[in-house]
Amino acid sequence: MSDYKIETKCIQSGYKPGNGEPRVLPIYQSTTYKYDSSTHLGDLFDLKAPGHMYTRISNPTVEQVENKIADLEGGTGAVLCSSGQAANLLAILNITSAGQNIISMSSIYGGTINLFAVTLKKIGVEVRFVTPEMTDEEISAMIDENTRLFFGETIANPALVVFDIERYAKLAHSHNIPLVIDNTFATPVLCRPFEHGADIVVHSTTKYMDGHAQVVGGVVVDGGKFDWTNGKYPELTEVDESYHGVRYTKDFGLEHAYYTKLRVQLMRDFGVPLTPMSSYLLNLGLETLHLRMERHCENALKVAKYLESNENVSWVNYPLLEGNDQYELAKKYLPKGACGVISFGVKGGREAAVKFMDSLKLAAIVVHVADARTSVLHPASTTHRQLTDEQLIDAGITPDLVRFSVGIENAEDIIADIEQALEASQK
Ligand SMILES: *Cc1c(COP(=O)(O)O)cnc(C)c1O
Repeated sequence: MSDYKIETKCIQSGYKPGNGEPRVLPIYQSTTYKYDSSTHLGDLFDLKAPGHMYTRISNPTVEQVENKIADLEGGTGAVLCSSGQAANLLAILNITSAGQNIISMSSIYGGTINLFAVTLKKIGVEVRFVTPEMTDEEISAMIDENTRLFFGETIANPALVVFDIERYAKLAHSHNIPLVIDNTFATPVLCRPFEHGADIVVHSTTKYMDGHAQVVGGVVVDGGKFDWTNGKYPELTEVDESYHGVRYTKDFGLEHAYYTKLRVQLMRDFGVPLTPMSSYLLNLGLETLHLRMERHCENALKVAKYLESNENVSWVNYPLLEGNDQYELAKKYLPKGACGVISFGVKGGREAAVKFMDSLKLAAIVVHVADARTSVLHPASTTHRQLTDEQLIDAGITPDLVRFSVGIENAEDIIADIEQALEASQK
């Protein structure tokens, strides 16, 4: 980890060219690597020497972007995955097997709820959902000897509930389990969960990190501080039969055990790597992440304040609006800004919300959020339509909720577009 500030890390971390080498991260478009001897390759397979074997597991371009993201978060290592969903899946399966369970905050991304409540259940992993209203005692009562981790999102998509990282890190650690944080909406520019006690950070890099809506990707970052030798995690402390005697904590140290296992075991077996070309494009996005987040946050606060003042809006949710129930947590964890995503209700309910969306000219209806262009979505009828009404409300979503992703255009243009669409929504 370098001592540079986050803005410098966005530009400079990761790839460091030597004398006469390309200034810009090269794309190593190669599945394969060449060796002088079979002994050397044998050592690579036994994880005795560092190096690349096969691009499903690692690649020089991908590796440099992993190093940059690990540095941005202040972690010890990172593994890029083909999507945010893949990152969440691997982060959990790395330390969870059939018959075990995890604890998750209920207000999280709809796709993750589906993964947790349906698919993980099918393979024998139970997810126990909790809410911020529950006391530590109530949550503790749901944790047993088979509970493997605690999961939450820094800023929940789309409910915009801010996760009290320090509170839940303390709670998780009192039960000797790690805290896994999905930091997608905050990005390391706005919040670095490791500094507040989190142990593993995951991202959908598809959102702000890429920032241009071009590359689906995900990443798992290891904080390197959790004590896996507490007796609960034999998969990290005991022999891995698929690696002839490797013991991750002993051979790689606590700092590198978790992500090394995830890469050489799960990435090898599930095969969901980010490609070199995608990693290259993601790196271009990361180079301006600090500039973009600043503008996303500045624009979003202006738009949120405007929406509050508009008579055709029934409610506005943005964590950094004074009076918002997340305001204190947002001030603590997101002092630089609470990202570009706002949710609000259009007066007149579902029908008016649809009219509003159809009348927008600058903001586009897309499934995506968190990229440079302003976009809008109605979760109840699209991304979250698989959820039952009860799950919807648990996830903090009402039928009239419009999710508005404020881009980095001029704020006055965005507001003018909203103004005319709100007028049209009432006709
Ligand atoms: C989008 C998203 C995901 C899923 O990521 P993909 O890259 O779309 O697979 C996971 N978590 C959060 C918070 C997200 O916003």
